Amino acid sequence: MDCLFCKIAAGEIPSKPVYRDGLVLAIEDINPQAPVHLLVMPIVHHANIGVLSDAADGELLARLFETATKLGRERGTDGYRLVMNTGKDGGQTVDHLHVHVLAGRHLTWPPG
Ligand code: AMP
Ligand code: ZN
Repeated sequence: MDCLFCKIAAGEIPSKPVYRDGLVLAIEDINPQAPVHLLVMPIVHHANIGVLSDAADGELLARLFETATKLGRERGTDGYRLVMNTGKDGGQTVDHLHVHVLAGRHLTWPPG
């Protein structure tokens, strides 16, 4: 499959990994929007959070959020933000599910 994050997970495209286990991979975002900007993704391809929810893979869902939360807690100073852009209107540009972990500065609201 011609998927950027599948290629990163397979080691075919270089990345800066910060965590990996049997289910998920976390890497540094190539274009960081905050001092901490990580992407946590399943190693197996799921296009977005809706597809994974439909697949009802509770173990993977849990691991994804546990990992994102752990990294946010460890690397944030006073909180963090988890974001999942989904579909065109949601601003998703890479169609392989990923959770953005943003931290290290005060993040404004609402997002654009
Ligand atoms: P989204 O727009 O929510 O689909 O997020 C895609 C994210 O992937 C963006 O924040 C990009 O900066 C990031 N990105 C794109 N290519 C790479 C890459 N090769 N390595 C790491 N992050 C990437
Ligand atoms: Zn993929």
